[in-house]
Amino acid sequence: MELQRRPVTDSEGIGEKRAEDLARLGIHSVADLLEYFPYRYEDYRIQDVAEAAHEEKVTLRGKLYGAVSVRWYGRKKSRLTARMDVNGVHISVVWFNQAFLKKKLVSGRTIIVFGKWDAHRLQVTADRTFITQEEQQRHAGRLEPVYSVTGSLTVSGLRNAIYRTFVRFGREIEEILPSELLQRYRLMERAKAMYLLHFPRGREEGREARRRMVYEELFLYELKLMRLRQMKKKQVEGIAHSFDKEKVEAFIGELPFSLTKAQRRVVDEILGDLAAEDRMNRLLQGDVGSGKTVVAAIALYANVLSGYQGALMVPTEILAEQHIHSLKELLEPRGLQVMALTGSMTARERREVLGQIQMGLADVIVGTHALIQETVVFRNLGLVITDEQHRFGVKQRSILRQKGPVPDSLSMTATPIPRTLAITAFGDMDVSTIDELPAGRRPVETYWVKRDVWPRVVQFIEKECNRGRQAYVICPLIEESEKMDLQNAQSVFEEIAVRLAPLRVGLLHGKMAPAEKDEVMRHFARGEVQVLVSTTVVEVGVNVPNATVMVIYDADRFGLAQLHQLRGRVGRGREASTCVLVADPKSEAGIERMRVMTETADGFEIARRDLELRGPGEFFGVKQSGLPEFRIADLAEDFRVLEVARGDAARLLEDPSFWEDPRFKGLWSHLQEVGEHSSDFD
Ligand code: ADP
Ligand code: MG
Repeated sequence: MELQRRPVTDSEGIGEKRAEDLARLGIHSVADLLEYFPYRYEDYRIQDVAEAAHEEKVTLRGKLYGAVSVRWYGRKKSRLTARMDVNGVHISVVWFNQAFLKKKLVSGRTIIVFGKWDAHRLQVTADRTFITQEEQQRHAGRLEPVYSVTGSLTVSGLRNAIYRTFVRFGREIEEILPSELLQRYRLMERAKAMYLLHFPRGREEGREARRRMVYEELFLYELKLMRLRQMKKKQVEGIAHSFDKEKVEAFIGELPFSLTKAQRRVVDEILGDLAAEDRMNRLLQGDVGSGKTVVAAIALYANVLSGYQGALMVPTEILAEQHIHSLKELLEPRGLQVMALTGSMTARERREVLGQIQMGLADVIVGTHALIQETVVFRNLGLVITDEQHRFGVKQRSILRQKGPVPDSLSMTATPIPRTLAITAFGDMDVSTIDELPAGRRPVETYWVKRDVWPRVVQFIEKECNRGRQAYVICPLIEESEKMDLQNAQSVFEEIAVRLAPLRVGLLHGKMAPAEKDEVMRHFARGEVQVLVSTTVVEVGVNVPNATVMVIYDADRFGLAQLHQLRGRVGRGREASTCVLVADPKSEAGIERMRVMTETADGFEIARRDLELRGPGEFFGVKQSGLPEFRIADLAEDFRVLEVARGDAARLLEDPSFWEDPRFKGLWSHLQEVGEHSSDFD
């Protein structure tokens, strides 16, 4: 009988009573019991006194000598003390409330104790004591698993039950992962990994066992997710775009630069989706400056070639303007009409544009939220792109998608990992990744300085601007705030404007009218203003390649993702760029953030550290993450495995032989559930 179907009562020593308790832990079958893994281990490997760390747990073997003393505190509380010789080092051992041991602690006997080590007093406070030969053989020298238990279950009872179940049924555990994957990642066999995860002989072995089971868990999860998506996709027919591939290639060939390998790969993925009948629902993630805009332009071009309109939605006016500018430059020479639709247009301009959109005269429409208003009616919308998609709600994106019958959809983001994980949880998107920056980019030198060197920072800005460069100075607040001892954009602006004269300094903040903001931004983009003092309104997307200095005041007030975005505003041209974080962080987390920023420029790495610092729950916004709970895997630690497993699962499902080749039999049964429990993934 399959272990999954065999009731847990088939295990030796498990009767009805215990089975009830086990059921409360979700253990019903023999397989469930074998897969009920410990959450930690007690290390009973014998150590030397020299190896023992103060205040840490230690396992010592030694010979008792002298008399044992016992002292009572009231009727129940006691303290037992004995002397022990551990390879010539004389230590004392203390037991609290275990007076019953006294008889057994005979002078001359060799025992093993486990407990907290006090290096100053050369004393161990024993939690566990192994006195008889049998006890010593059974426990000492190994890592002993600790399980969470409930009801009448005890950790040692459960441990014994699991051990006996392995002895009896261990041979029946079948491998479910295809051998290619086992070989590729050098993973342990399933039966061995399961056993060693319970009963490892050393840390390394335990880690290897865990690695195998983590991969399996995440792989199975992804496989189910993909299967579900496959089943859903079949239900939504989209547009099979048909476009002249040569024209698209000619367009790519005439770009002022050649695409990076990563850009080329994602372009192919997207063009493939456009051509296919399935409706595209794809996320394009790429670090700041990795060149997502041109990828969007290529997709829009192919879409228009096949006779459809395309829309690009962005979160801010500034960004809209910038995208319109670059898309016009790229697409107008090819005969496309690129139009803007933003909130700051006059009623007349707006009417005009709306008319053009409705008549199908506008091919590509770039806009802010204004795009999703009811009055906007497309003639034939075939592709919808959202830039910095995390800035929009799911709702807003779906409204835009509903403006065409079944437009393909592409979402772009520069905050990679959180989204990947979220998508893993919600499971509705394909993911393309640009994991490479265009050649010739120089990494941004990042320094963290204390506030008291601020005057020197200003001097540095001045020096760079006098060499023809430009600088951003970011402050967390706009106005004077009495409560918080933070620098604000207004006063920094006033200070710098005076100090740096005759250099020109601009001020940009969220309370300004959109037209005012654009004005300032335009001056900065044209180089008429050298220094831009700003709140985080420049955070997303802005592209001014001549700016090479990014100063962030009170940088510890910002989250890692935001700091990385801000830093991404520089380092966009050929000149070397610098980022200066000015901060006197008060919290550990603040210090850690500064450290991460100075240590790495890799957006993926930063997102990972961010996840570590905050934990997945907070990373995604409190408890609304909807992230699945894994039994073994820990997303903060194992998300790279998740990404790898995701790719492997996708490839396997696409393999035409998957449903025929008996090598994959072990996986079929896991996929059968998908239809039954599909609501888990909605
Ligand atoms: P992001 O991914 O952050 O949106 P952008 O699309 O704004 O990045 O691109 C950043 C800059 O890199 C732009 O000036 C763009 O023209 C340039 N760029 C994009 N792709 C390449 C490439 N393959 N080679 C050189 N420069 C490129
Ligand atoms: Mg961008």
